Amino acid sequence: MPSPAASVTFVGAGPGAADYITVRGAQCLAQADVVLHDALTDPELRRWAPRARWLHVGKRGYRDSTVQTEINALMIKHALAGARVVRLKGGDPSVFGRLEEELQALHAAGIATEVVPGITAALAAAAATQRPLTRRGSGRSVSLATAVTQSGALNPGRHADTEVFYMAGARLHELSRRLQAAGWSPDTPVQVVSRALWPDQIASDHTLRDLAAASVLHGGRPAVVTVGVGATAVVSNSLPIERHQPPVPSPEP
Ligand code: SAH
Repeated sequence: MPSPAASVTFVGAGPGAADYITVRGAQCLAQADVVLHDALTDPELRRWAPRARWLHVGKRGYRDSTVQTEINALMIKHALAGARVVRLKGGDPSVFGRLEEELQALHAAGIATEVVPGITAALAAAAATQRPLTRRGSGRSVSLATAVTQSGALNPGRHADTEVFYMAGARLHELSRRLQAAGWSPDTPVQVVSRALWPDQIASDHTLRDLAAASVLHGGRPAVVTVGVGATAVVSNSLPIERHQPPVPSPEP
């Protein structure tokens, strides 16, 4: 019989430095016995959970359903053993985070769940480059889209004034071609931001016509591609404030 207390908390780590996690997310980490985390989360986050066992369960691509089954089994095993389990995900768990599969597996095993949101990459890129995704009068809708479908096909369309594509980094040429075929003008502004809110973040401006050139700058790095109204600069020379270091958490309550 599953213990009535068995539970797993999904926590969004945010896209960058450890201090972008929410206070609630950090509190969940501080109480965790076991943390299952992905590849994209910042190792600095370990400082929020000094007592926990950290298990790296990163996965890449759509083919790896075995890995998904193993992650589900690990969460269930530790939760049923009475551990306080945190499933830490990059960005926000509800955005391209395979939350659906993991919630279903836990509920089928009678395990309670909570989801603590995090800053998703699209919002991180907008904040880091000071480009609001909505604009009064011209930008009334935003879409968060994956560039790649489950079968590996690239199938973008035109659904919003600002469209942000995840997982597009390796296929910018094709994305450019398909967006133009879907009705976007070749002169549409596009911004590519890789490793948003990390110290080595890169942001670059393009038009849809020359988007393929961005591959050289961003190759091999997690990147979002913002197309349309939200890609245009508000101010020509933003002066970023130098960021302070994240506070060192105290492990004791
Ligand atoms: N749940 C995550 C998304 C996971 S899918 C979120 O909410 O952000 C992985 C994709 O997210 C990457 O291919 C990339 O498109 C995007 N991504 C993740 N971290 C990023 C970052 N720091 N900068 C830019 N894009 C990022």
